[in-house]
Amino acid sequence: MSDLFSSFNSLGLGDLSGVDLYKEKETTVKRPEPAEVKEVIPLGEKDLLFDKTYTCPVCDEPFKNKTVRTGKNRLLRIERDLRQVYTPVDQVKYDVIACPHCGYAALGRYFDSPTRMQIEGVRKNICINYRPQKWGEECYSYEDAYLRYQLALGNAIAKSSKSSEIAYICLKMAWTLRGKREALDQTAPDYEQARKEHEAAEKECLQKALDGFVLARQKESYPMCGMDEPTTDYLLAALAFEVGDLPTASKMVSTVLTSRSASSHIKDKTRDLKEEIVELVKKQAGKN
Ligand SMILES: [Zn+2]
Repeated sequence: MSDLFSSFNSLGLGDLSGVDLYKEKETTVKRPEPAEVKEVIPLGEKDLLFDKTYTCPVCDEPFKNKTVRTGKNRLLRIERDLRQVYTPVDQVKYDVIACPHCGYAALGRYFDSPTRMQIEGVRKNICINYRPQKWGEECYSYEDAYLRYQLALGNAIAKSSKSSEIAYICLKMAWTLRGKREALDQTAPDYEQARKEHEAAEKECLQKALDGFVLARQKESYPMCGMDEPTTDYLLAALAFEVGDLPTASKMVSTVLTSRSASSHIKDKTRDLKEEIVELVKKQAGKN
C-alpha cells in the first residue's frame, strides 16, 4: 500500500511525497493497488469523447485534452455526496486538464486562472522534475484518471491553492475510486479484496475532502467550488456522514435546515440525510 502521492515518483515529482495537504495535518491517504482485478471500460466510451485544444498558461504550448460530449452523456442519479453518475461515460475521469509538455494540471474550473506567483510555484515544483506521461490513446482508464488527479493535487500544493480547491480534488479522487470500484470485474478471484481496499481508500479521500472544506468554510467566501453556502454545508454534512462523524453531520444538517437562503431542493436532500443519520444512531444504540 502506498499513499495519496504514490505515483509521484513515476511523474518525476518525488519531492512532494508526504507533504501536508492543508499544512495542518499528516497526509496518509492510501491508494489501492489490486494486482489481479481489471476494470471494464464501457463500450462506446471513445465515441463520446473529443480532443479539445488548450493553451497551457504555464508553458504557453498548445495541447489536446480528452473531453466528454456532454449532450450525449446521460445523468443517471446524484448520490448523497453530490457525485453525479453519468452513463455511459463516468465524467469524473475527464475533469482534470493536464498539459503533457510541462505537467501543469488542474480541474477545469481553475485551469485558466493561475496567478503569476502560482505559475512560478508550478515551474519550480512541478515543471523542472516532470516526466512526460502517455495517457490512454482513446479513453482514460480509472488508473489514468487517478494519476491525473494526483498530478492536479501536486499542482494545487505547488500553487498554494485555497483549501477548497484541494478539498474538491480530494472529493473527485474519492469519486474516481468509487467509479473504479463499481467498474471492477466482479468475477476476478481478488475482487472482494480489491473492493474493500477501494472502499477504504475512498473513505480516506472523503475524510481529506471534509478536512479541507471545514477549513475553507472558516476562511473562504462563497461561491466555493461553484457551490453556495447551504450547498457547501449540505456537502459537509454528507461527507461527515460518509466517514462516520455523526456529530458534525448532525450539526451541519441543523445549519442547513435553519438557513434562510437554502433552496427547497437542498432542504429536501438535507431532510433525507437527517433521516439516515437518525436511523444510523438508532442502529448504533441497538448494538451497544
Ligand atoms: Zn504546459
